[in-house]
Parts: sequence; C-alpha cells; structure tokens
Amino acid sequence: MKGKKRKQSKPKQCGPCNMCCTVLKIDDNELKKEADTPCKHLSPEEGCSIYADRPETCRSWLCAWLAIPGLPNTLRPDKCGFVIRPSDSPFDYTLTASKNHTQVLTSTAALEFIATCIRSNFVISVNVPTKPGHENAKTMLTGFVREEDLRSEQSLRIKVLSAMVSGANANTDLIVKIS
Ligand code: SF4
Ligand code: SF4
Repeated sequence: MKGKKRKQSKPKQCGPCNMCCTVLKIDDNELKKEADTPCKHLSPEEGCSIYADRPETCRSWLCAWLAIPGLPNTLRPDKCGFVIRPSDSPFDYTLTASKNHTQVLTSTAALEFIATCIRSNFVISVNVPTKPGHENAKTMLTGFVREEDLRSEQSLRIKVLSAMVSGANANTDLIVKIS
C-alpha cells in the first residue's frame, strides 16, 4: 500500500515586512544603526535597497515568527505590530513594537502569545520605552504574571499594562550614539 504524501508547508517569507530593519540595533563592521531607527538602506517603496548585498547580520537574523513554522501568519510583525525577538535560549522571547507600544503590546495577538509562553514556562518579556534619550527597558513578565491573571484577556491586559508602567519608569542607560 502506498503511503499518503505529506503536504509540505511552504517556508515562510518576510513579504512586505521590514520591521526588524527599524527596531533592531546593529553594530558590526558592515552596518551600524540605533535601535528603533529605520536603517539608512530602508526605502519605503522597495524595502531594503541593498538586498542582494545586505550585510551578514541581516542575512542571518530571523525573528521568531519567521523561524518557527507553527507561529501563525497573524503574528507576522507587520501584521501584529510587534517583533518576537528570539534569544540564545529557545524558551526565552521578547516582544518589541516599533510604535504604539502600549496598544500593540496589550493587543489580543500579543496577550495570546504572552499567555502561551507563561503557560509553557517560557521566559517572556516586553520592550518598553523609558525616558527620552534612554534605552528601552526589557521588562520580564514571567514571574510577574500569575496563573490567575490568565483567567481572562482583560485581567492579563491589566497585568501587562502594570508591568509596562514599571518598565517605563525604570532607570536605563543613556543611548550611546553609534558612529
Ligand atoms: S521582522 Fe521577521 S518577518 Fe519582518 S522582515 Fe524581519 S525577519 Fe522578516
Ligand atoms: S541593510 Fe537592508 S536588511 Fe539590513 S537592516 Fe538595513 S534595510 Fe534591513
């Protein structure tokens, strides 16, 4: 008996998304840019204007949405408004928005991802803007959000908002201009 062919899912593509070209800080020999600043090579019309020759850092960097096949298309960063940044650990993620941080990081899409991470005992954080001219605060939700906060979207939203308020008041380093 012939076995059924498994349907192969197509590899994900960035498509029109270019959010990492704005939110990431890049400081290597080939390219230097501040966090939360559009790359000088980013064109509103065509995306990366040096795509064929883009630096190795850009070629090798994958956001978690792109890297993890099971994450749905609704979490593509240009659709949900936040990038899920991976870390050295496959169990540790940080959500970073490029604008409208409060709204985006407490959206239904963000809260569902946060709840899944908390239930799975992953480390999950949000990147929160602080005082002008200062670095964002990486605010960890794991340990702060409790099981009972997951009982409804609204209770989780209130908890995440509360973490974001403390993150916004954190003392972070001054942004050092990269040149
Ligand atoms: S944020 Fe992710 S999906 Fe968007 S351009 Fe970067 S790697 Fe691609
Ligand atoms: S060089 Fe291209 S891919 Fe790299 S950050 Fe700039 S616009 Fe994005």
